[in-house]
Amino acid sequence: MKKLFILFLLSVTISCTSQKNSFSNANPSEYVKTITAADLKTHIYIVASDEMQGRETGSLGQKKAGEYLINQYIANDISFPKGATDFYQRIPASFLNAIRNDNLADSENIWAFIEGSEKPNEIIVVSAHYDHIGIKNGAIYNGADDDGSGTVALLEIAQAFAKAKKEGNGPKRSILFLHVTGEEHGLLGSRYYAENPLFPLANTIADINIDMIGRHDEFHNDSSNYVYIIGSDYLSTDLYNICEDANKNYVNISLDYKFNDRTDPNRFYYRSDHYNFAKNGIPSVFLFNGVHADYHKATDTVEKIEFDAMAKRTQLAFVIAWELANRENRPVVDKSGT
Ligand SMILES: [Zn+2]
Repeated sequence: MKKLFILFLLSVTISCTSQKNSFSNANPSEYVKTITAADLKTHIYIVASDEMQGRETGSLGQKKAGEYLINQYIANDISFPKGATDFYQRIPASFLNAIRNDNLADSENIWAFIEGSEKPNEIIVVSAHYDHIGIKNGAIYNGADDDGSGTVALLEIAQAFAKAKKEGNGPKRSILFLHVTGEEHGLLGSRYYAENPLFPLANTIADINIDMIGRHDEFHNDSSNYVYIIGSDYLSTDLYNICEDANKNYVNISLDYKFNDRTDPNRFYYRSDHYNFAKNGIPSVFLFNGVHADYHKATDTVEKIEFDAMAKRTQLAFVIAWELANRENRPVVDKSGT
């Protein structure tokens, strides 16, 4: 009895130690710093400019924004995923118009990839939609917050991982940066990816989705030093803990769970692209600043973006991805998601 008890204690000690070390073994601090308000500002002033014409799904403006994203990946020596022939996942108009015929042209998801060093076949998806709602009654809907903010956050997160990899500190698992199209027409690009995944969904260990992280809502008029966390605990207690610890250890903003409540009438959990991963049993977290007076208006413009808050939220997404990529075990799915 006694001996067994001691062994039991020992094994508990070992497992606790190794779990703790998954954060300290590979320290992201140096790379967190490379995600700056200034860099985000440079990118979003282009992605949400009038030149991109509101980035309607399938439009020339959206394609132009997409080319900018691809050029940033190329400039940082980040390639498209293995198994793809270029940066595009092409989606035919027939798919985009199948449910609700909005008369959309062919469009593309855009993907970039950083291969893991130890478990390259296990994939973390970091997603954000780069489409918005185009031009209505002659007004360009720039969609700076929605979702220019998430779009350029992906560029900065990818750049930070690429720098880490160059310095011998690359992620152990692979990371897929997925700029999805057709979100505003019903989460279409992410649904297309989930139905036509480049990597098996069974090997896709998590999705971190970023949609609107550049502003604040009416509940945070006093401080923008927060982000809503939605869905992190729906499928996996591990993912919830990773988000909490990543924030405490490296970022320290207020994590607001107001909209994580399943009975909340806004139903935000079902309203952005992570849902197409979560419904397939993939632990998913949605980072979001809430809605504001400019939501889905032509006034969602770039000069209203709060860059310091946006940088903190981008850093948080990066550290969550870093931990998911480097920890010993993938997050366990221990909940039903419903
Ligand atoms: Zn959005």
